[in-house]
Order: sequence, then structure tokens, then C-alpha cells
Amino acid sequence: YDDRDGWIWFDGKLVPWREANVHVLTHGLHYASSVFEGQRAYNGTIFKLTEHSERLRRSAALLGFELPWSTAEIDAACKEVLSANGMTDAYMRPVAWLGSEKMGVSPTGAKPHLAIAAWEWGKYYPPEKAEQGIRLTIAPWRRPAPYTAPTESKAAGLYMICMMSKKHAETSGYDDALMFDWRGRVAEATGANIFFVRDNAVHTPVPDCFLDGITRRTVMDLARNRGVEVQEREIWPDELESFEQCFLTGTAAEVTPVGSIGPWDFKVGDLTRQLVKDYDDLVYGRLPND
Ligand code: PMP
Repeated sequence: YDDRDGWIWFDGKLVPWREANVHVLTHGLHYASSVFEGQRAYNGTIFKLTEHSERLRRSAALLGFELPWSTAEIDAACKEVLSANGMTDAYMRPVAWLGSEKMGVSPTGAKPHLAIAAWEWGKYYPPEKAEQGIRLTIAPWRRPAPYTAPTESKAAGLYMICMMSKKHAETSGYDDALMFDWRGRVAEATGANIFFVRDNAVHTPVPDCFLDGITRRTVMDLARNRGVEVQEREIWPDELESFEQCFLTGTAAEVTPVGSIGPWDFKVGDLTRQLVKDYDDLVYGRLPND
């Protein structure tokens, strides 16, 4: 991804794509002092931009570093990246990390940096697979407890278990993996939150050790706006066989139907299809956005 045309916002300036580099002794690379965002622009508007910029600052603060850019400045920088690259529809990646000003575990003396890139990223899962529902396996790794890691932070370090679980899924012939949490409860996929449907009600796990996704909260509202009951509660694996439908939510994944998790099959039902459409209508401004 480093050899292409375009502009990347880097510590306050737009730099050519190929020159947006860091040193090998970057603190964030060695000790995971790095946090990031993922957001999408649809038709020139970055969906829920301020929520993403705020979460970036909060993610960094949870790791103990303060970004010297305000939420408004990050919002403006994201818009600048989009227009500098002449894009209206893009996936955007703000990333903040501690730099190469010093070495050693202690972050003291290492400075926070921020870069923002944008590129075209179509559907996260191949549309022909999503149409029938993607196939998940069970991840070999579990989400850590909130006393083991800052699980509310979109921290690069927390993606190690996601990355390994995703690789396990792909090498076993699946599209993604369902991760349980440290207690053994259903948690989320490797880059998206999970929902189930039963008797026309929506069920989703309590986000007490994984991201309470911006898409997750949006889709909960969309369901409620349709008069659908939303139950946020603990979900254990022995309940999986009783659910009729299942879908994932995330900025990249949007709303993606799930066809199976290991041996349990789900149908791509009316409510799932409705929420896929409602989310699409919302991001393209065809539904009011509060
Ligand atoms: N969980 C994980 C592990 C993720 O990477 C994402 C994507 N950011 C989500 C959940 C969903 O979050 P959001 O809807 O805010 O994109």
C-alpha cells in the first residue's frame, strides 16, 4: 500500500503518499503505543466523522497519551484529505502513535503523531458471499478482560488477537471468526460487532470488553425506529442454535448477513435485509441522521 499516488495528512501537512514514512525505532511499532480509526465517506460526507475523531482521542487517552489536535482539528484534517485526493467515496484511516524520539518501554519523551490516509475500499466481504450470508468459524483467541487491556480503546495492540483469528478463519476456508470473551461469552467478529435475530427481536452482546461500535449503535437505533425490540445482554454460545438470523456491523463491514457460525446455520431474513437497506439509506442521506 505504500507505492501509489495521493496525499496523506501527516502531523499537520499533506505529504505525497510514498513519503508518509516513520523510522524503524518508532515506539508504537515496538510497544503498541498506537491507536486508529476507520471511517467511510459516502458521496462526499464522512459518516459520523466527529464520533470517530472523538473516539481516536479517547483511544489514545486510554493508552495514556494526549493528542495535540482537537476533535475539530481532526475533523478538518479528515475533510482536507478527502478533498486533496479528489475523493467522494472512500475508507479513511486516521492513525496516531508515539514516535521515534526515544527508545524503551517508558513512553516518556516519545511524541504523539497523527496521520490520515484515504483510499477506495469497496465492500469488506465479497458481495456474492454476503448475499447468502458469510461463513464464520470460532476464533482460537478470546477477547481479554477489561482489567487485562484497555478494551474500550481502538488500540493497535488489541488487533493482534483479531489478526491471528482472521488468519485462522481464512486458512480454514471461512470468511471470518466469532470471538468469545475471556468468560466464554459471545463477543464479536475480528473487525465488526455481532447481532442475532429471534422472534423479530434483535439480540446483541453487552460491549464490556470490546468496541461499542459506532455502526452498532446506529443499527440499534435503526432497528428501534422500525419498532423492533433490541436486547443488549449477555449471550452464551449454547444459545447460538436458537437464533434465526445473524449479521455483523462495522464501518468497513457495514451491515453484513451471516449464513453460519461453525455448525449453526442462519437464514438471511427480512429483518436483516431491511437493516442492510436502512443503513445504506442512512449513510447516503436518504434517511434523517441525528
Ligand atoms: N469491533 C472491532 C474489533 C472492530 O475493528 C470494529 C471496526 N472499527 C468494530 C467492532 C465496529 O466498530 P465501528 O462500527 O465503530 O466501525
